[in-house]
Amino acid sequence: MFENLSDRLGGVFDRLTKQGALSEDDVTAAMREVRVALLEADVSLPVARQFVKTVTAKATGASVTKSITPGQQVVKIVHDELIKVLQGEGEPDTLRIDNPPAPILMVGLQGSGKTTTTAKLAKRLKDREKKRVLLASLDTNRPAAMEQLAILGQQIGVDTLPIVPGENAVQIAKRAKQQASLGGYDVYMLDTAGRLHIDEVLMDEVQAVRDVANPRETLLVVDGLTGQDAVNVATEFDGKVGISGVVLTRMDGDGRGGAALSMRAVTGKPIRFVGLGEKMDALETFDAQRVAGRILG
Ligand code: GDP
Repeated sequence: MFENLSDRLGGVFDRLTKQGALSEDDVTAAMREVRVALLEADVSLPVARQFVKTVTAKATGASVTKSITPGQQVVKIVHDELIKVLQGEGEPDTLRIDNPPAPILMVGLQGSGKTTTTAKLAKRLKDREKKRVLLASLDTNRPAAMEQLAILGQQIGVDTLPIVPGENAVQIAKRAKQQASLGGYDVYMLDTAGRLHIDEVLMDEVQAVRDVANPRETLLVVDGLTGQDAVNVATEFDGKVGISGVVLTRMDGDGRGGAALSMRAVTGKPIRFVGLGEKMDALETFDAQRVAGRILG
């Protein structure tokens, strides 16, 4: 995912660390290259700009340039700033799924990997946190999507709400809530309908479902390969329905990684998980330390 960025930065920092003594101009020149590398990785311009500005301010001080290992110190500053950009300030947060039954609303555009991610997360909650999970598909326009969730549920051993033809999304959400309470479930997950583009109808429906379910978590699933588009989608969904976190899918693909780097800084929302393949186990919590480590090789 970050191969190109990693190679580019590796080149810049190799030269810096080999150089020994550093002047402010050396650092500034290196940071110009870092900026280009970030933009080529599809990081949003304001984020790349701010990143370089912060690192330059910290790295051009005498305590760095006059130190014994200035190059290594610059790399350390970049590493720490990468973690801040990826994670924001403070500790990584975890899902709020206490007070059963906790509703989780899954939103996103069609094809983003929403249904797959819903099932992956349900499996994770069941296997790792021993939660009883109920899944419900609200995609009334696409019976195939409802069946897909039922099939995935069966495959991972998680219950799905029986499909009742003719119900609308709000009715299904109400039934899921009732079933989750009566059935003693810890969590119920609502897989909302996706659309190819963000439109009023989609947003109205998601808002109506949100108002009925009052979700503890609203997770937006976005395709990590789409770079800045993914960030734009997140901004729009957050403005319209309010999201509590993001899942970036297809991070196993050969995208340039910009979505991961821009998401937190632009939207203020945490990346909670990353999808790394089609299999039901291919979901990892987002770990800024690990990602920063991967970027810096
Ligand atoms: P939805 O329309 O948003 O519900 O999308 P689906 O869940 O049906 O996923 C669309 C396709 O993307 C399916 O073929 C999934 O297997 C695939 N997919 C989902 N997540 C990932 C991922 O993290 N990596 C890869 N490589 N494929 C994924």
